[in-house]
Amino acid sequence: MANWEVDKFGGASVKDAKRLMNVAFLMEKFPSAQRMVVVSAMGKTTNALEDVLKTFLDGDDHYLELFEQIRQYHLMVAEQLFQKNDTVFHKIHALFDQTMSFMQHVPVNHHDYIYDQVVVLGELVSSRILSDFLNARGVHNQWLDARRIITTNNDYRSAKVDLRLSKENLQKALEKYSYSCFVTQGFIGASEEGISTTLGREGSDYSAALFANMLDANKLTFWKDVDGIWSKDPNIFKDAVQLSEVSFREAVEFTYYGAKILHSKTIQPLANLDIELHVRSFLAPEKTGSKIVHKKENAEEATINVMEAQTDGIVATQLETKDYSYISLGSLIEVLEQFDKLGINILQVSRSATTLTIVHQNIKGLSKQHWMGNILEGHNLYQSELGHLASQINTQNISGKLLPFANFDVQYAGGSIKFQQEVKF
Ligand code: ASP
Ligand code: MG
Repeated sequence: MANWEVDKFGGASVKDAKRLMNVAFLMEKFPSAQRMVVVSAMGKTTNALEDVLKTFLDGDDHYLELFEQIRQYHLMVAEQLFQKNDTVFHKIHALFDQTMSFMQHVPVNHHDYIYDQVVVLGELVSSRILSDFLNARGVHNQWLDARRIITTNNDYRSAKVDLRLSKENLQKALEKYSYSCFVTQGFIGASEEGISTTLGREGSDYSAALFANMLDANKLTFWKDVDGIWSKDPNIFKDAVQLSEVSFREAVEFTYYGAKILHSKTIQPLANLDIELHVRSFLAPEKTGSKIVHKKENAEEATINVMEAQTDGIVATQLETKDYSYISLGSLIEVLEQFDKLGINILQVSRSATTLTIVHQNIKGLSKQHWMGNILEGHNLYQSELGHLASQINTQNISGKLLPFANFDVQYAGGSIKFQQEVKF
């Protein structure tokens, strides 16, 4: 009977030699019969690689220097963990050399494709260092190239995963290697032709959930710098309380309303198989952290979780009919369709006789958008003072209180407005 656990280590948990030693310590302290370790790029490496790419695509040779700085950083970390003659140094150089040679030979015209071929380096090199270091410490493991497991289409930078093919690949890999511990990468995959792809920024959470799903794992653990899930950001608010148990649905809702708990795609692969997600601190492993579960134990008695998230750039846009006629369903549909097309997150919609108010993620110059002008004209509407004022504020606070109501206080220069919406579970 398979007995898998999946552990995901994000950028902050592997950002330097000290943190990598801590990962080894955690793996020794909490042994598991069968384990898949999913790792992100070290610290802010993905951002640094994005800077390299930007400079490279601008035709500026400074990219060479930026690239070498990233290489030097990884070598420096490895020097603190390994003997001078360790084979890990060759592996690090090989990964950097391949990426550099790719950039020097690729025609600079297919940006998203180039992006994916370059940024995968971050995860490949961090997982190499971690895998070799764990082996040196006696935590025997096999390094797995996630690009040979996670099969995607070729929507570069936000590739869609083919779970069936990925599962077949994983089964083959598990048959091939007689290991009970593997180290692999989050965030990256490859098309059926073997071309590297990525799943979208911060996608490691999602990768880890996919591995947990494919292995039918007993649990998935996210090791973070906070001790579980909190009602508010504990780094900012003194009155934040820790939530020991959160349901999948609550986690999705919280994430949607701006709490940075997890990547939005994380829950589905877990919920389907009822796999528990634990969120724990890699700095305070003695604490149990929070659990995200399918159904809370004693659901009737369980207290309702209330969470507040601070988000920047939430605005209210209010449209009013010029002639005091009722607001039409057609105008509502058109506006919503446009927001959807542009990928603007809508938090609330309310409609009165003559007004339509939409609370949404801010985008610059909404009122000046061509399509907005067309809608206003076509439906004899104008954008009222509220929308105008709200779109000028720098920061708005949004607090979503879930179950049974989501309340939104949107503050703008002239005051604040309250929204209330029932959220059914
Ligand atoms: N390294 C990638 C990023 O920073 C993926 C991840 O960390 O989840 O976006
Ligand atoms: Mg990251």
